[in-house]
This record gives sequence, C-alpha cells and structure tokens, in this order.
Amino acid sequence: MSLPGDSDCGRPHVAVIGGGLAGLATAAALGSANCQVTVLEARPFLGGRATSYPLNQNPTNPADDHGTTIDNCQHILLRCCTNLIDFYQRLGVEDRIQFHREFFWIEPGGRTSVMRAGVLPAPLHFTESFARLRFLSVKAKMDVARGLLAVRSEYRNRNDLDRITMLDWLREKRQSGQAIERFWRQVLVSAINEELDRMAASHGLQVFSLGFLSQKNAYEMGIPNVPLAELYGEEAWRKYPSVEICERAPVSEVVVENGSVQRVNLRETSLAADAYVIALPYERLATTAPGLADSAGLDLAAFTHSPITGIHLWFDRAITDLPHATLLDRTIQWMFNKEGGRHIQLVVSASRSLLEMARQDVIDLALRELQEFFPDAAAAKLDRAHVVKEVRATFSAATNLEAKRPVSTTPIQNLFLAGDWTRSGWPATMEGAVRSGYKAAEEVTQLFGFRQDFLVPDIA
Ligand SMILES: Cc1cc2nc3c(=O)[nH]c(=O)nc-3n(C[C@H](O)[C@H](O)[C@H](O)COP(=O)(O)OP(=O)(O)OC[C@H]3O[C@@H](n4cnc5c(N)ncnc54)[C@H](O)[C@@H]3O)c2cc1C
Repeated sequence: MSLPGDSDCGRPHVAVIGGGLAGLATAAALGSANCQVTVLEARPFLGGRATSYPLNQNPTNPADDHGTTIDNCQHILLRCCTNLIDFYQRLGVEDRIQFHREFFWIEPGGRTSVMRAGVLPAPLHFTESFARLRFLSVKAKMDVARGLLAVRSEYRNRNDLDRITMLDWLREKRQSGQAIERFWRQVLVSAINEELDRMAASHGLQVFSLGFLSQKNAYEMGIPNVPLAELYGEEAWRKYPSVEICERAPVSEVVVENGSVQRVNLRETSLAADAYVIALPYERLATTAPGLADSAGLDLAAFTHSPITGIHLWFDRAITDLPHATLLDRTIQWMFNKEGGRHIQLVVSASRSLLEMARQDVIDLALRELQEFFPDAAAAKLDRAHVVKEVRATFSAATNLEAKRPVSTTPIQNLFLAGDWTRSGWPATMEGAVRSGYKAAEEVTQLFGFRQDFLVPDIA
C-alpha cells in the first residue's frame, strides 16, 4: 500500500476512513469540489456491506472454489432513493441499474399477483392493480386503503412515530391479521430489515409515503445488472483524479491532540490531512477513535444489529422465468432470478431464526419452500448452494433511537462522521449511507470556507 503525501497541491486534503457507500459518497462529493481525498479501506475491495466478491475469495468458506462472483446479498433500491441515484450518476454507472415496474407476489401453491402503476396519477396509481391482487381479501384491501390514507395524513405530521412500533401503529389503525401479515409486513421487513414489533413506526410510514404514495414511478425497483463492486470500480474513479483509493489500508487509530485530529495511524505508516471523515459502522468507532463516543456524548450501547441471510442456489435447469418475486407466508421473503432461472438468490431479512441453523438446514428449508412457490424446482437438481449470514447487516431501526443517531459534526472541529447509522433521515440502507456521506462532505466544505451542497432532496 502506498499513500499519497500530505496536502502538497494547495487543495485541502481530506482522509476518509472506510470505503463503504458512505465513505465513497463523501469522496465523490469532495472530489467534485476540488478537494484532495484519500479513502482508506481495510479490505481489498470497495463497497463495504454492499459489495461482491469471487466465491473462491470468501474467507468464511474457502471450500467454495467455483470462480463465480456473487454479491454478498442482493441489494435493491427504489427510484425514491434520490441520493443513491445521484451517486451512481456521479460515478457514471447509472445505466447499470435496471429498473423494474412490476412487483410479483406469490402465494404458496404458486398463485401470482402483479402490482404495477396504472393510468391514474399518484397517489392513486396502484388502484387498478391493487383491486386485482388475489392474495388479499376485500376486507384486507379496505384495511390497507384506510392505512395508506392514514400514512398520508400522519407522516411528518405526528411527533410520536419514533416512540411507537409499526405494529402498534397498525393496530391503532385496526388493520386485520391478513393485511398486516401479507401486505405491511411483507413490504416493511425487507425494506427496513426489522420486524414490525421492533421497528419504529416513523420508518414504516416513510417507506410507504415516499415509495408508494409520492411520484408515480417512485416504487420502481432498481437491481444492478453487474456485481455490486463493479459499480465502484477503477473506471468510475477516473473522473475524480484528486481522489486516491487505498485498499488494504486498515486505520488502527485516529489520533487527537490539542483538540484536533493530527493523523491516522495505519499498520506501518500514518497519514495527516486537513480534515477526517470516519465512515465506519458504529461497532468500529470505539476501537478506531477511542474517546470520541464519550466526548461526543454518543450512546453506542443503544444500537443493536439485525441480520440478513442470503441463499444462492444453482440448479441444473430453469425453475422460473420471473425476474424476482416476493414470497408470502413463509421464511423466505424474496426471490431474485440471477441467471436464466437457474441461479436463484433468496433473501431473508431480520433473519434471527436462521442464525443458529446449520448451513445444510438453511438450504433444505429454502428448497422446501421454493418448491411450494415454483413447482419446477421439485424436478430440478441442485448443483450447488451458498449461504451468506450477515449477522451485522444493519442496525436495528428500533424505537427511541433517532435522537441517538449522531449528526455529521463532532466536538472535534476537523473530524466528521458518516455511515448508515448516523442521522441521515433514512434507515440503514444504501440511500441512508450515501446521504450521510453527502452531509459529511457538506460540513467539510463548510470547514474549508467554501460551503457546497450535495444532498438531493426527497421526491415530493
Ligand atoms: C446482506 C445485506 C443486504 C442488504 N440489502 C440492502 C438493500 O437491498 N438495499 C439497501 O438500500 N441496503 C441494503 N443493505 C444495507 C446497506 O448495505 C448498508 O446500509 C450500507 O451499505 C452501509 O454503508 P456504510 O458505508 O455506512 O457502511 P459499510 O458498508 O459497513 O462501510 C464501512 C467500510 O469501512 C471499512 N472498515 C472497517 N474498519 C475499518 C478500518 N479500521 N479502517 C479502514 N476501513 C475500515 C469496511 O471494510 C467497510 O468497507 C443490506 C446490507 C446487507 C449486509
């Protein structure tokens, strides 16, 4: 690893610690503002929790030696992720995201319903397809319609939504069991990566307000058509010659003396800059910047993790021609068709029930359930399988947490925070991470005396 020298070109120099989406968004924003930026990433690839790697480089299972590159887990975005889309545009990779206009909902047995925008303007754009959904009774549909009306009137107008759970809110709105299980839960557990009885209602209402009730195309689901790490590859950074990316560069300590950060220590070297952005997950803060949590009054103990499990299955033949689908009433929540119906990726969010389960038991469960939705899976031979349990996938978007998420400035003038767990206004998502990076970059430019705005507003 070679590091650039200290600021030697007259431009302010910023060290960004962590090459996940938050750190990369900070770097792209500051690179466009003519700052010299050094990104220090511990691992040999970028993207953090939103990344891909060749299976034979998976340190947790070296036996998986097939040379296939897989995402650590399928990552999706919606068109309402305005800052993430802006970030992809900055890197020139927005054309590698394919947006889908249809959502497929499948019941055990295989009955499929499709949700898509119709001819009516927002917020009535789902009216026609909603009326045709087969997995909800008429009563459940009326409940959901009432609930969505309440979302419209209460989101941003009610001040206790961070204190009550989404389940409390749904019960308050007298939603039936079917409406809760098959509609609200099915959308929200995946979107927020948390169960309804744990997540703050504010996040649930935000998803429906922005994704379902704002603009007509806000719900469209973006799926990268390249492995995630390719989105942040070398090519993308050529546009930013003042951004230096250093992989295999773990920062061991952020050194604070006389009230400001003086340098960061790495394995055999150190780096000094004019400003520093820590873009690490919350569990890394205490070891990398000891004392910061105390001086900034951060209550890190308030944060806990929620896991996600991804299951890759490779069959000897196609088991479906749907591009993706959400699967009702079972453990597996989403199916993504990665390669002609033969490579299937399944996702379980808030997957606490799978953590203790042996790998083979997870695969067996996935196969059993898959056959209930896609009968062709019963006749297909499973060639291989790969299970990724991300125990620390995201922080749990629990109640009473919002005020404890830190803002980007710290008591140390030249030190800033980014990361999906900081106060981005979004739950732990790629959009939240990018927002946090843009916010930190705005504060850095403010410090240097040429404040620039990077945040893109929410869609109306
Ligand atoms: C399985 C899974 C599925 C998900 N699905 C979705 C989805 O569909 N849609 C969505 O929007 N979001 C999804 N998320 C959430 C999303 O991936 C995260 O919210 C986002 O990527 C977090 O970005 P970040 O930059 O804040 O943190 P991270 O991605 O964790 O980045 C931190 C970086 O810091 C590096 N680092 C750690 N220690 C050091 C050190 N000492 N020195 C230098 N570098 C260090 C790490 O290697 C990492 O690259 C998913 C997450 C997981 C795990």
